[in-house]
Amino acid sequence: MTRDQDPGKGPSVDRVSTRKRRDKALGMETAISRRDLLHDAALTTLGLTVGSTLPVDALAAGPGTSDVSVGRGPQPESYPPTRTGLRGSHPGAFEVAHGLAREGKAFPEPEDLEESYDLVVVGAGISGLAAAHYYQQRFGSDARILLLENHDDFGGHARRNEFHQGGPMVLSMGGTHNLEWWKFSKTVKGFLGEHGVNLRAMRKKKDFAYGRSAPNSPAMWFDKDTYGEDRLVANCDLTERLGPDLIDQLPISTAGRETFKAFYAGRKNVLEGYDEDEAEEYLRSISYPEFLRRHGGLTEDAIQLFAKQEHGGWGVEMRALSAMEAMEDGAPGLHLLGGGWDRDGWDYPVAMWPDGNASLARLQVAKLIQEVAPGTTADNVALAEFAYDQLDRPEHAVRLRLNSTVIRTENTDDGVAVSYVNDGRVLRVKAKHGILACYHVIIPHLFPELPKAQREAMKYQVKHPLVLTNVLLRNTDALDKLGIDNVRCPGRLHDSLFTFRGINTGGYEHDLEDKGPVSLVFWGSISPPDSAVDVHSQLRASRAQMLGLRFEDYEREVRTVLDGLLGPAGFDVQRDVLAITVNRWPHGYAYEYLDLWDEDWPDGEAPHEIARQPFGRWAIANADAGASAYTHVAIDEAFRAVRELPTPA
Ligand SMILES: Cc1cc2nc3c(=O)[nH]c(=O)nc-3n(C[C@H](O)[C@H](O)[C@H](O)COP(=O)(O)OP(=O)(O)OC[C@H]3O[C@@H](n4cnc5c(N)ncnc54)[C@H](O)[C@@H]3O)c2cc1C
Repeated sequence: MTRDQDPGKGPSVDRVSTRKRRDKALGMETAISRRDLLHDAALTTLGLTVGSTLPVDALAAGPGTSDVSVGRGPQPESYPPTRTGLRGSHPGAFEVAHGLAREGKAFPEPEDLEESYDLVVVGAGISGLAAAHYYQQRFGSDARILLLENHDDFGGHARRNEFHQGGPMVLSMGGTHNLEWWKFSKTVKGFLGEHGVNLRAMRKKKDFAYGRSAPNSPAMWFDKDTYGEDRLVANCDLTERLGPDLIDQLPISTAGRETFKAFYAGRKNVLEGYDEDEAEEYLRSISYPEFLRRHGGLTEDAIQLFAKQEHGGWGVEMRALSAMEAMEDGAPGLHLLGGGWDRDGWDYPVAMWPDGNASLARLQVAKLIQEVAPGTTADNVALAEFAYDQLDRPEHAVRLRLNSTVIRTENTDDGVAVSYVNDGRVLRVKAKHGILACYHVIIPHLFPELPKAQREAMKYQVKHPLVLTNVLLRNTDALDKLGIDNVRCPGRLHDSLFTFRGINTGGYEHDLEDKGPVSLVFWGSISPPDSAVDVHSQLRASRAQMLGLRFEDYEREVRTVLDGLLGPAGFDVQRDVLAITVNRWPHGYAYEYLDLWDEDWPDGEAPHEIARQPFGRWAIANADAGASAYTHVAIDEAFRAVRELPTPA
């Protein structure tokens, strides 16, 4: 949060005109009125209606930077991946669910569509799509399946961002992207094989390394608003051993720099006398900042530099993690526990597509409904054309209905029933079976008959908010001049940014050396206020902040960073920003149990295990059911859920 965004202070006239001047310099001015209009119109309409017709597509197309330059390629009206502006949980997607869950809103009696299926799936993320696949395997490939999804695109967190504003198509990821193949179960390996995915081949075609390829990367950028001056510190990675010369460049207090020098040079085992178990128990009982304070001797301003370091990896503040969890994830400190600095360098050998795991979701859809993208294979999926008008056709065995928020799920005498809101209408369909592949926290609101203990367990699994903002840059000239492609910005909204190129899979090619246009990914979460103490409060406060920010807040933020960071190297923020897509995920990573906040539950008694119990003809999928925020877990959980469905009478 920058000072400008502090919601607590009403702006004075002076501040407003300063803001306007600044916005103009940042290249925002021309687009602002249009953005405001659309955003406000969307919220007003959505707040007032349920039961009236809602132009979801028009709203969801949302405020974009299409004003900045005229887009080419498939048009956003019929093709969601090219939509810019506020995406992820976009306007039009979440209001019905919030009305239900937050305001206890009552909905009119549903209109019976007289559609009947073998399976209805709530949520068309990786898990929901995988559930449809496993259902076909168990009950036959001609099974009639309906997937209901509240967003205007399928894939859940697997979201494709497709840009044409700079000429040739540039792909970027909007959410999940890493395939951590070394953790895959036999089920997941089989699933990928069934979709034609060759992970080994994919890895060979990936040069991308989170933008750590430029000579001065990774770097840190300290901004004027927070640190009193804009300063870029090259080759500065707090997880590596920093030398005194580098530390002297950090714009923190002199005392802070001195404590940093002592910390990085330290060799003494600060837990001398503890045996291994005692040391681990202790390190799991204190937060990482507390470890730095007590045993690293760091001042508060030095500790603060680590505060957002795990925004991307965990979606939480560093204070939510134990010292052990943080160090297991690479935070420095092992050298004060008898360890050394002898790491083999940065190595994260994941497989990836150029639109992240959206390509996996596309492969799933293309297999389930072949007419959507005939001839699609793992080798051409990134380039394949997807006909969204084929997703929901009565003549196909599998139908995928977008813009449809489920508000009620039930067991009936002969199967299940589902009510949902689509285009302002409340509708009802029936099926023999149901799979809930949506987030756990919404399920108690859809299914009040679930046992109380199960509903409570679901509510416990608060998801971690994440934001991934893609900024299409005209070229990489300024980045190249500075020799950077991966930067941490500890004072800014998004903690880190990196260029996204060097992934040549799915038929797409984007050379690591390509000079542009290129997507610069701004990546992280949003810091909750200090008053949010326990992790559940932190996650909820972070989500509230995320939802409170409008598109122009994110836009102003990224333009401010680009101007301060790259402006001195010739980047013209008015000219060189071609498009901005904010993928905000208020319900991001699945809740994973953390040392400081969660019990060590006996087998079978952890919240996710209680939460995922089948109920009548319903079973529960989604990464929440595995309490693990991974794409492969979403697949494993779909497999389990389909297996748990009862055989129809
Ligand atoms: C930004 C981000 C980056 C990530 N990166 C990675 C990564 O690199 N690697 C990795 O393995 N994992 C990553 N993850 C974790 C990711 O959550 C999982 O990988 C996986 O995509 C989860 O799939 P899912 O189907 O279980 O859930 P989701 O993707 O959340 O899909 C569930 C769908 O159900 C919909 N839904 C919810 N309620 C309703 C309702 N009432 N009616 C209709 N539809 C509803 C949701 O909107 C959503 O579209 C990332 C997550 C995020 C947010």
